[in-house]
Amino acid sequence: MTAIRIDGKVVAQRRREQCRVEASRVAQSIGRAPALAVVLVGDDPASHVYVRNKHRACAEAGVDTHDVRLPDSCSSRELRAAVERINEDDTIDGLLVQLPVPDAIDPAEVRGWIDPSKDVDGLHPENVGLLASGTPRFVPCTPAGCLELLREYDIPTAGREAVVIGRSLIVGRPMATLLSTKGVDATVTMGHSRSGNLKEICQRADILVVAAGQAEMVEPDWVKPGAAVIDVGIHRIADASRPRGSRLVGDVAPAVGEVAGHLTPVPGGVGPMTIAMLLQNTVEAAGRKA
Ligand code: NDP
Repeated sequence: MTAIRIDGKVVAQRRREQCRVEASRVAQSIGRAPALAVVLVGDDPASHVYVRNKHRACAEAGVDTHDVRLPDSCSSRELRAAVERINEDDTIDGLLVQLPVPDAIDPAEVRGWIDPSKDVDGLHPENVGLLASGTPRFVPCTPAGCLELLREYDIPTAGREAVVIGRSLIVGRPMATLLSTKGVDATVTMGHSRSGNLKEICQRADILVVAAGQAEMVEPDWVKPGAAVIDVGIHRIADASRPRGSRLVGDVAPAVGEVAGHLTPVPGGVGPMTIAMLLQNTVEAAGRKA
């Protein structure tokens, strides 16, 4: 690989250390540690791993966590009641409902139940609107982490062509918004599954953020030589040569590293940043009470 490897683990570790210092300062001023509640519905194994990692990172940073587990069979009404109990609890600063929720529950409704001042995932319509208006309260963690990586590696954005593949509320859409905000100043195109000429669109990109959820979809001939490529995707695929019989891959083929100027690895790129930004949002939520 000739591209510079963007080491999300190192950047995230630095950010987590800053959060630890800030959490302790906030704790002194509000008389308790910042606190995050995580609601997990059902038995999705990947969600359990994500939640465990979030708890571990919080513990290291001096952020308390509250775990609310509900069964797969949980109704919308039961989930709403759990969310509202946390909304009303003054000792909890941040609240997230781990996605995906079971099919019987509409995630759009869930987003609207969360108190916007505790919505550390930045998905409540009020927070989506604030971000779109250029006055964000909480920026969704994964795109915030991607932008942080670009900054840490001094990758210029102003006046550059940026392409984001994916238009989800949690990654693609806020990523495109962030890249086009004043001060970041990229010229942004957002691609999706109905974009007819995605390869040609990607070839124009100085910055390419891929959040399509399609394993190794972006090939080297999609990428402009020297471009910065941020791979958000994460997939576990079978690999009999590995001790676990599987390995993690992203949305970007590894050979892109021969063409790109910068590339995030999977794992160890965007993933660690998502957790670091969640900590940051939680500590900020607590700090606003100080
Ligand atoms: P979604 O499935 O919600 O959204 C995927 C987006 O990609 C959609 O907008 C979809 O288009 C678009 N898309 C799908 N297939 C194609 C294609 N062939 N060509 C172009 N666009 C396509 O996924 P998320 O945004 O939640 O996540 C994306 C990926 O990022 C996943 O692999 C997920 O696991 C990973 N992820 C990683 C995180 C991390 O911390 N590293 C955090 C969050 C997600 P359309 O709208 O038309 O359907």
